[in-house]
Amino acid sequence: MSKDIRVLLYYQYVPIEDAEQFAKDHLAFCQEIGLKGRILIADEGINGTVSGDFETTQRYMDEMHADPYFAETVFKIDDENQDAFKKMHVRYRPELVSLNLEDDVNPLELTGAYLSPKEFREAILDDDVVVIDARNDYEYDLGHFRGSVRPDIRSFRELPQWIRDNKEQFMEKRVVTYCTGGIRCEKFSGWLVREGFKDVGQLHGGIATYGKDPEVQGDLWDGQMYVFDSRISVPINHKEHVIVGRDWFDGTPCERYMNCADPKCNRQILVSEENEAKYLRGCSHECRVSPENRYVKEQNLSLDEVAERLAVINEKLPTLN
Ligand SMILES: [Zn+2]
Repeated sequence: MSKDIRVLLYYQYVPIEDAEQFAKDHLAFCQEIGLKGRILIADEGINGTVSGDFETTQRYMDEMHADPYFAETVFKIDDENQDAFKKMHVRYRPELVSLNLEDDVNPLELTGAYLSPKEFREAILDDDVVVIDARNDYEYDLGHFRGSVRPDIRSFRELPQWIRDNKEQFMEKRVVTYCTGGIRCEKFSGWLVREGFKDVGQLHGGIATYGKDPEVQGDLWDGQMYVFDSRISVPINHKEHVIVGRDWFDGTPCERYMNCADPKCNRQILVSEENEAKYLRGCSHECRVSPENRYVKEQNLSLDEVAERLAVINEKLPTLN
C-alpha cells in the first residue's frame, strides 16, 4: 500500500511576540490548508505534531521556513497510511514544556551539548556514562535505550526533584539524556548544567531522529517509541525488535496501550486483547466495577455478564445497599 500521508514532528525554541495572537492566526492558517494535528505555542516557541497529505504538509513546511521565526526549524517526517489526528488544535501555553521551576531555564541561553545519533550511540556503549530517559514512565515502559535510567516519576515536571533526591549517583559522571523529539531535553539538560553537573549531553533531535539515521538505524533501542497521536507507538530500531513492554495483568510481552476504562482513572496500561476482555479493561478492581466503565458500555455487557467475567478472576460486583 502506498503511504501518502505524512506526519511531521517539530519544535523551535524562539521568543514569539504576542504568542496568544500568534496561536489564533496559526490555527486559522492550519485550518485553511487542511492540516490536522496538535500544536502548542508559547512565548518561548512552538511544538507540534501534524499530519496531512504530501501537498498540505509540504505547504506547511514551506510557509514555516519562510517565516523568520522558523527558518531553521527541523521537521522529522514519517510516511503513514492515515492521518494521525482527527482535528486541528493550536493552543497557547505559558511554557512549551514545564519542569515546574520557579526560575525557568531558557535553552537558547543554557543547554547540554548536542550529540548526533552516532555520538549518542557511543555514549550508550560507554559504561562510565549515565543515560537518563527524560520522558514519562509509561513512555519508558513501551520502549527505551538499552541500559537507560528510568526515573521513578509519573510526569516530566517531577524530574528535577527526582534528580535532586538521587544526585549522588550521577553527580561525578558524564550524563546524557534523551526524549521523543528533543524538546524536553533542551530544557532538562540546561537545568542539569545549572544544577552543577559537569558533563551533560543530549540526543539532538531526540529518538525520532535517531531512528531515521541511516548509520545507527535505531541500534540499541528496545521496544517501540510512544507518540502523542493516534498511532500511539512507532518503530525505532530497524536492526532488531526486542519487546520490553509487559502486560499490566500477567507480565507477558505486550506493546498494546489502552486507557483504563474507568474515566476517573484513565491510566495507560499495556494490555493484550484477551486480558482486556478478561479484566474489563480496568486496571484495578475499583476501575473494573466502576459504574462508568467504558468497556462495559462499549460492549453492552449486562450486569450478569460482568459478574460472570469477574468470577473468572475471583472478583465480585459490589453489593448495592
Ligand atoms: Zn484504572
